[in-house]
Amino acid sequence: MTASGIADSAIERFAACERQRFLDSHPASLRLAERARHSLYGGAPMPWSAWPAPAPLFVAEACDARLRDVDGHEYLDFCLGDGASLFGHSPAPVARALAEQGARGLCTLLPGEDAVRAAELLAERFGLPTWQMAGSASDANRFVLRWARAITGRKVILVFDGCHHGSVDETLVRGREGRTLHRPGLIGQARNLTQHTRVVPFNDLAALEAALAQGDIAALLCEPALTHGGLVLPEAGFLQQARELTRRHGSLLILDETHSLSAGPGGCTRAWQLEPDFLTVGKAIAGGVSCAVYGFTRAMAQAMQLAEQHAGEALAALELHGHGHSGMGTSLAANALAMRCLRANLEEVMSAAAYDRMLSGAAQLADGLRELFAAHGLNWTVSTLGARCAFQFSARPPRTGGEAEAACQDNLRQALQLYLGNRGVLISARHNQLLCCPDSAAPEVRQLLSTLDQGLGELLALPGARC
Ligand code: PMP
Repeated sequence: MTASGIADSAIERFAACERQRFLDSHPASLRLAERARHSLYGGAPMPWSAWPAPAPLFVAEACDARLRDVDGHEYLDFCLGDGASLFGHSPAPVARALAEQGARGLCTLLPGEDAVRAAELLAERFGLPTWQMAGSASDANRFVLRWARAITGRKVILVFDGCHHGSVDETLVRGREGRTLHRPGLIGQARNLTQHTRVVPFNDLAALEAALAQGDIAALLCEPALTHGGLVLPEAGFLQQARELTRRHGSLLILDETHSLSAGPGGCTRAWQLEPDFLTVGKAIAGGVSCAVYGFTRAMAQAMQLAEQHAGEALAALELHGHGHSGMGTSLAANALAMRCLRANLEEVMSAAAYDRMLSGAAQLADGLRELFAAHGLNWTVSTLGARCAFQFSARPPRTGGEAEAACQDNLRQALQLYLGNRGVLISARHNQLLCCPDSAAPEVRQLLSTLDQGLGELLALPGARC
């Protein structure tokens, strides 16, 4: 019995046909894959950009909700760069900002008005008064964890099992039966990460309180909903209780809104009136241009200043060199191009009207998926987080990262992803999650649903498919 109720043998026969279909219809992608094998490690510019099978899909161009590959095939894109292009590919105001700023200086290591305006807009949107910029969400998380340690004088970080916060060492762990372990597949670590990170299950207040009660946790770093592997939504009151508990035990609360920006123009923080000490967000925040930001309360800003002045040595460095010696910052963070795009995206792209269209697309998608699964007799669940819609091969929505993992059936996920891709619909290669941008309208949603309907019909018609 598999999680999905569909037999592995049928999935393998179905996937084999799709792999052949991909190979037959993507000669240009295959030629590039062959060239790439000689010059790019693993045949792709970075590990995440290789499609699982049978070869990477090479892209020619992308615009709004659509993408064209080097073989000339057009795709409706519900992956949207796994959220980096949540507002569609090359939104017109961001493309204009890129062209304008492209000719006016890219990186001066000096601020301009765009950074100030962007911070003002971020403050209005997320309700946190003070901001800093970083080059990626991973970096933003890394810096905030360092601030949290400096402020609290504590070393340990708390995360939820199944979390993903980018390439931040401290978060590359998982929980098993109350223990914290290194994530499988992790390589090149010099430190034992479990010394300074603790993991508890999401939606488990007792475990959270027990971890915090040890009194050594600098911060709880979490997404408001787990968005990796499966979509795990917080139970009623869980995040409010988590806030209460972190306060009670002297730990900070850092909300990573990089993926939950799908919830609304101010992320879950605004939509659910959450009260983080720090908030980090990257990926789509500058419309797909490399940029991330972190915001914090006035109390944190004061505590950060105190932390910088704390040690005599640090104070001397501060007087001599300014803030640059805190070890925070990277050369290209807050570059002029990123700041111009961040401002344009906040001012002109991430509007309430755009979110209305995104949320309505995702709601239609969720309703359609529920009907589709019921019609095929599949006991699968569908959840949404604003413009993000996820389906799980399980009869009830997962409550924890562990449950989400148990409901994963990678062979089925990949086979369906390939089937859809072969017919012009892209979904994420990493999880059963679909994102709606402002241009993912009803016809796009209908095309996805009818293609998936056809695929499930073909798969379930195979002898022995149901188990
Ligand atoms: N936080 C979350 C919630 C993410 O999903 C990711 C990346 N998928 C990151 C942080 C890191 O983003 P980046 O890879 O752009 O550094």
